This record gives sequence, C-alpha cells and structure tokens, in this order.
Amino acid sequence: MNKRRLSKNQQRRIAHNLEQNVEIDDASEGIIINHYGKQVTVEDSEHHTHRCRLRQNLGDIACGDRVSFYPQTEKEHGVVLAIHPRSNLLQKTGFGGKAKPVAANIDQVVVVCSISPEPNLYLIDRYIVATENLPAKTVIVLNKIDLLDENNQAIKDQIIQTYSKIGIDVVQTSTRTGEGIDDLKALLNNRTSILVGLSGVGKSSIINELIPDCNAAVGEVSAASMEGTHTTTVSSLYHMASGGELIDSPGVRDFTPCISDKEQILRGFTELRKHFGQCKFNDCKHETEPGCAVRDAIENNEMDALRLQSYQHMLRDLEEV
Ligand code: GDP
Ligand code: ZN
Repeated sequence: MNKRRLSKNQQRRIAHNLEQNVEIDDASEGIIINHYGKQVTVEDSEHHTHRCRLRQNLGDIACGDRVSFYPQTEKEHGVVLAIHPRSNLLQKTGFGGKAKPVAANIDQVVVVCSISPEPNLYLIDRYIVATENLPAKTVIVLNKIDLLDENNQAIKDQIIQTYSKIGIDVVQTSTRTGEGIDDLKALLNNRTSILVGLSGVGKSSIINELIPDCNAAVGEVSAASMEGTHTTTVSSLYHMASGGELIDSPGVRDFTPCISDKEQILRGFTELRKHFGQCKFNDCKHETEPGCAVRDAIENNEMDALRLQSYQHMLRDLEEV
C-alpha cells in the first residue's frame, strides 16, 4: 500500500480545493478496483492500492471507472476527485426500479450457460441485446460440457449453430475437467470482461479457475467494509494472471437485462435488420405475410428461426409493460 505522506500545507490546500470544487493539477490517475458502499479502492498506475472516499456530488461510480484522485496517506483515506468519461456503463435495476451502476468501461460480457440446467436461448438473446446496447462484445460460455450425453447433444449443437452464425464465440468449458478453460482465458486476454448468467450454471466455479486467489481478496474487502456501511455486495476488478481484467459483481451475476424500447431490441438482432427493408409490406410482422424477406432468409438457412422468435417475443414483452 502506498503511504505517501502529505505535508500539513498540502493537506490544507487539498481540503480547500475540495471545498471550492476546484479541479487540481497534481491529482493521480487510477482505476476503481473495489466498490463497497461509499468507499472505493483505487489502483494507481504502479498497481498500488488506495482506500478512497468519494468527493461530494461525484455522481455514480463503478468498478472499472478511471478516476483522478488524491492518494491515501498514513492517516487518511484518499479522495476520488473526478470520474473520467466512460466508454460504457453496465447498470442493473435496483430496489424501486432505480438503475444501479455495476461496472464501467467493459469490453466484453461473457454470458455463461450450461449443459444442465438447460440453456435458455431467449435469456441469452436478452443478454446479447443488453450487451449490444452498451456497446460491448458478447462471448458465450457453455459450461459443464463434461455432462454432455445423447439427451443434451441437440441443445449444445443448437447453441453453437445459432450463435456462431452471428459471429459470437461459443466456448465449451468444464471446471471439472478443465476443458476449454485455456480457450476462455485466450478470449479474455487484453480485455475487461464481466460474467453474467443464471445461478447454478457455474459462474463462481469459472471465476475461481480464472482468478485462483479471488476468494481471499473478497474476504479481505468484506472485513474492511465493516466500517460504516451495511453494504454486502462488493464489486471487484481482478487482473488475471493470463492477461485481461475480470470484474466480478455478485449482484450482477444473475441480473436479467431490462429492455425499454424497440430500437434497443433491434441493436441486438443485426442479422434481422438486414432483411427488414426487403419485405413486401412495410409493416410486415414476419409472421404469415406473403413476400416476407425475413422468413425467406430463414428458409434459405441464412438466418436462425429461433432468433426471429426471440425478437418477436421481446417485442411482445415490451408491449405488455
Ligand atoms: P453459479 O451460481 O453460476 O455461480 O454456479 P456455481 O459455480 O456455484 O456452480 C453451481 C454448481 O455447478 C456447483 O455444484 C458446481 O460444483 C457445479 N459446476 C460448476 N461447474 C461445473 C462443471 O464444469 N461441470 C459440472 N459437472 N458441474 C459444475
Ligand atoms: Zn417480413
């Protein structure tokens, strides 16, 4: 831990500047690697960590945010002064329908599903819509591949066929046998990723494979967060030994994306979009209308029928809200 000592004068000036809302030239730059209640841990460019409080009126902050901050001193926590512009912000709906920031500056959302419980393609498509709207890249992990047998071979083939066709990488993994874990690591390399998916599919097990010491780190943070707040959900950003960063937020592992308009839905179905203008009727619903370019594309195997079903399902869900 960096215990840079500030002089009395420096401390006074910092207090003054904070009071006056002045931006300060000599602030350090860092990234938020832990977020618990009203406190964060900032990692500086030399990988030193600083417990920091947040300057008033800073606004929402999340793991992955790049910030300007005053370092922690021997006596005091540091202070986060400003949040740099983000490339994106993943949010989830918290209590009372309020959007809660979960992670910032994400390159990839890794959607984890498993051989058992059986994957739900509609949920996968909802994650894809949410990811495309960030925007970020989607990776699909099909875990528990060790449980593959003649009963679930078809669903495995379905997932691979449907998503490979739209350019999404599908990695088959098993935390039991280690199969595919290196392939997954390779896909996470040089990127900041977050894992999502239904509970029970094996996300915690995968995270333990990717970051063997993360349990220890989580325990450490929980102890530290005893002070003051009652927040139990801790988000953390980990550097993986194999390269790349993984943000783990237990609160978002099982999140179901909220989708609020048609334009958002369309962004998750680029392959459908291509055919839309070509239907005979402008208001074609791609159901039973003659001259439907979308259904033609499905018949010609250029597009997947399940994806059209998901799209229509999402539109119906939207109308019902
Ligand atoms: P999470 O709820 O998504 O975090 O899932 P967990 O990591 O807690 O795993 C749920 C259950 O699936 C546990 O009993 C794990 O031991 C088991 N599990 C995880 N990965 C695999 C796998 O690759 N193969 C098999 N057979 N079981 C697994
Ligand atoms: Zn049509």
